[in-house]
Amino acid sequence: MRRIGLFGGTFNPIHLGHVQVVREVKAGFGLNNILIIPSALPPHKELDVVVDAEDRLEMIRLAFSDDPNFVISDVELKRSGPSYTIDTVRHFKSISPENTELYLIVGLDAFLEIDTWKSYNDLFLLIPFIVMSRTINEENSAKLEWKSLKNYLQSKISKGYTFSFAQSSFIHDKKQPVCVLNVTPVDISSTTIRKRIKEGRSIKRLVPNIVKDFIKAKGLYL
Ligand code: ATP
Repeated sequence: MRRIGLFGGTFNPIHLGHVQVVREVKAGFGLNNILIIPSALPPHKELDVVVDAEDRLEMIRLAFSDDPNFVISDVELKRSGPSYTIDTVRHFKSISPENTELYLIVGLDAFLEIDTWKSYNDLFLLIPFIVMSRTINEENSAKLEWKSLKNYLQSKISKGYTFSFAQSSFIHDKKQPVCVLNVTPVDISSTTIRKRIKEGRSIKRLVPNIVKDFIKAKGLYL
């Protein structure tokens, strides 16, 4: 059985938060590969701050160039129109061999907006989730985060979700499981990086060095 994680986002730009947490997910769930899937026209983000898709793609390539188990996918960039996760999941399910288990990897902040995603109910029928904690400060501890996830799942998705300690997942008799993983908190966001560049501040230790050099050479986010 091959276990593959799908990790989507705008990656505008990719940062050390993405790199660190997704490595922890790979190790924690024993995934063979992770597909990193940058979105084309992000339906939920301000369009004016998105740099060229090719540049975002290249920064992701650079960030994972040391590990062939991370595979960059341009499916969403090649598709016309805005990128919808449901289309991407259907695509990978249709091309994956039988002995493949796919997982959709999402940070908690993104997961808590999933009821705004296209055909989100179908997602819960199609693919198990891995939800990563995104603890920003003390008040926002992982424990509280999982409580908010439980409330959200039961109020917006289905009352039938219950937590299984044995499986470290919310399980449901008709829907796919929602697995949770406490990852090391990394207080970095792409927004912070774009802001710092605009203000002329350093982004050292926020993105991989090789990505920092690329951003500088191309004059991105100025
Ligand atoms: P922005 O600041 O532009 O909103 P972002 O830093 O949240 O961007 P995205 O590309 O939107 O980055 O994120 C892709 C995925 O990675 C989302 O599921 C998000 O929750 C997750 N993610 C991003 N940064 C972190 C982090 N520091 N810790 C855990 N998960 C993260």
